[in-house]
Amino acid sequence: MKKKEKVWKNNIRKVVPYVPGEQPKDASVIKLNTNENPYPPSPAVQKALEEMRELRLYPDPAASALVEAIAEYKGIPKEQVFVGVGSDDVLAMSFLTFFNSDKPLLFPDVTYSFYDVWADLFRIPYKTKALDETFCIKKEDYYEENGGIIFPNPNAPTGLALPLSEIREIVLHNQESIVIVDEAYVDFGGESAQSLLGEFENLLVVQTFSKSRSMAGLRIGYAMGSPALIKALNDVKYSFNSYTMNEPSIVMGAASIKDEAYFRKTVARIVSTREWFKGEMRTLGFSFPDSASNFLFVTHEKVPAKEIFEAARKEGIYVRYFNKKRIDNYLRITIGTDEEMRTFLTFLEKYLQNYHSNS
Ligand code: PMP
Repeated sequence: MKKKEKVWKNNIRKVVPYVPGEQPKDASVIKLNTNENPYPPSPAVQKALEEMRELRLYPDPAASALVEAIAEYKGIPKEQVFVGVGSDDVLAMSFLTFFNSDKPLLFPDVTYSFYDVWADLFRIPYKTKALDETFCIKKEDYYEENGGIIFPNPNAPTGLALPLSEIREIVLHNQESIVIVDEAYVDFGGESAQSLLGEFENLLVVQTFSKSRSMAGLRIGYAMGSPALIKALNDVKYSFNSYTMNEPSIVMGAASIKDEAYFRKTVARIVSTREWFKGEMRTLGFSFPDSASNFLFVTHEKVPAKEIFEAARKEGIYVRYFNKKRIDNYLRITIGTDEEMRTFLTFLEKYLQNYHSNS
């Protein structure tokens, strides 16, 4: 007898999940594949962990200590700050809260690959807008009717930043929808759209502790926006899970915000490594958009990216390769320490030499 199809299977939400970069078990791997910070968090963060109150209790559902530290640092009222479990959580919550139109959400064709996953998960119609041939966002593409707009600035995985004046133009042309600027990498060279918040009630700016604050493992992200947007986000959060932020994240996040000198020092170090690394990569025949982030998106004039990716992996150096339209001949390389980048360059020099003499 033919087995009957189980009806409950029809009721399962079917999604194609986002695939995060690999986290190798082997600690000796040089990890340049997930845009983490090569330096540890501020020593103040470790100290705060030691002084943390008991874990027996539920954390403050409003995560007030963290929200207030961010608000004070950014010079805005706490009613304009929302925190979440990494900016992924903040962004997912924002998709659910703000993108409920029948009109399509707009975002670039080459961008953070979580956007289409969230759109599918929440059944949000969307349309992608092609970057130009130099991987720049064309602001005019976002002037058509839409149910919302999101893009990273600097964009990922290209690393290119859009000037603040162009972001302002985009928001100005979109007074009827919510515009989200995902600033995961802004501290490494972009201009934050935070300065536009006073002008636009429909703008949400999202940042993270994962990159410039070396705290990817704790999962802290936040949004800044008008009190109306932040209240809407909190209403959805409290309808979902009151305790998204755990106690260690609240305490350690607040401690990180208070150590401005350390933050500036590590960001400056990464920027200086990036600028030196750009020159070395050009010499080796690579080209790339001029990154304002903590990674470089490179292509080689002669050698396919996938082959470099695989050869580097065998040598214990992980970079990111996306087998996707338009970008399947590119590698995204996170900026690590000077020493890590030197090891990678030494590998590349040898690899390219052998490649050329064998071909
Ligand atoms: N936005 C962009 C553009 C990213 O690349 C990332 C990192 N994967 C995130 C958001 C999410 O980072 P997190 O959840 O660690 O804050």
